[in-house]
Amino acid sequence: MSAASDYLVIGAGVSGAAAAAELAQAGSVTLVEMEERAGYHSSGRSAALYTPNYGPAVVRTIIAASAEFYRAPMPGFTDHPLLTPRQAMTFVPAGSEAKIDEYMAMATPETPLQEISPDQACKLAPLLRREAVARASLDPHVMDMDAGAIHQGFLKLLKHRGGKVFTDHRITRIEREAGLWRATTTSGATFAAPIAVNAGGAWADEIGQMAGLKPIGLVPMRRTAIIIAGDPALAPATMPAVDDGATEAYVKIDAGRLMASLGDATPSPPCDAQPEDLDMAMIVDWLERNTHLTVKRIEHSWAGLRSFVADHCPVVGFDDDAEGFFWLAGQGGYGIMLAAALGRLTRSLIVRNEVPADLLARGLKLAELAPARCRG
Ligand SMILES: Cc1cc2nc3c(=O)[nH]c(=O)nc-3n(C[C@H](O)[C@H](O)[C@H](O)COP(=O)(O)OP(=O)(O)OC[C@H]3O[C@@H](n4cnc5c(N)ncnc54)[C@H](O)[C@@H]3O)c2cc1C
Repeated sequence: MSAASDYLVIGAGVSGAAAAAELAQAGSVTLVEMEERAGYHSSGRSAALYTPNYGPAVVRTIIAASAEFYRAPMPGFTDHPLLTPRQAMTFVPAGSEAKIDEYMAMATPETPLQEISPDQACKLAPLLRREAVARASLDPHVMDMDAGAIHQGFLKLLKHRGGKVFTDHRITRIEREAGLWRATTTSGATFAAPIAVNAGGAWADEIGQMAGLKPIGLVPMRRTAIIIAGDPALAPATMPAVDDGATEAYVKIDAGRLMASLGDATPSPPCDAQPEDLDMAMIVDWLERNTHLTVKRIEHSWAGLRSFVADHCPVVGFDDDAEGFFWLAGQGGYGIMLAAALGRLTRSLIVRNEVPADLLARGLKLAELAPARCRG
């Protein structure tokens, strides 16, 4: 089988799906995914939180630019609200009080945090042990995000615009021939296009190397999460997400149950990440030391990869060393939030070589995303 199009997007996670849907407005698009279904890796394993005060400044700029779309997507994108109010509360134990000042100072001016008393914190989140809380802040801007509906919405939009999705096609070779990128899969299929978008998630550096390019220094980091039974008395449905500001562990409501994670970041090769027993035991230990919960059973657990380059900002733009090779990588722990605006940025850079007006107005500097910055 061989297919030719104007744009070849590699990787059908949320980043590739959003970029492909955008590009389909400008030409024919082929989206190629190695797994049997889109969203098998990071995009299907997130905590599904919209946290505008998270990450470096350029990340926050892009998150804010995505929010407009998620608040009011175009008709037909989804039947579900993509963002619903949640709030997040950060507590710190005695000895780490200064962390609250740091978090409050780092909040963007449009989304300020407010300090709350330890008693207010325990009232909002009755599961917290009072002695665990020396100081606390509340972020009223955090939302629950329907990550699945966002991802499916972009895939639906892509198909509606005439784009083609090929799953179960692992690309193993990429060559430039006569002005085209030609990608060959394990099954012998070939996909050709003048422009290739590398949205390979944790595999983005491997995909770049297949095309003969220098690595951008991407490091996938494993994070483990567990689901346990909910407890409406200790964790009412309206409870904000609860973050431990000293360790980065967190617990949040997840469809009537509770999701918890240590907020760990263990370097890993790109792979089908699996939860490790020790990490799960440490989550339970954190829960039992800081909350009144008793964990009788872990109902479900998973691990996923959050892939970062050195400065923890995404990598978006054409490679200086290879005509028509576009990077869309390094979305770290914010890829769902970023997808809508990064998809638009990808189309605008590829088709018009310009930054969308709203991102420019927000002060986005392309140099902060450029692949070349990752190679010193
Ligand atoms: C535990 C956890 C919590 C998180 N919480 C949040 C959160 O609350 N909010 C948020 O915004 N983000 C969160 N994230 C981050 C978010 O999930 C990622 O940033 C995002 O999913 C990255 O999407 P992606 O499309 O770049 O990568 P992926 O979803 O990994 O997609 C890349 C795709 O490329 C495919 N691929 C790779 N190599 C090839 C090849 N050779 N041929 C064909 N296909 C290939 C892969 O199979 C994969 O499907 C979290 C992540 C984790 C792990």
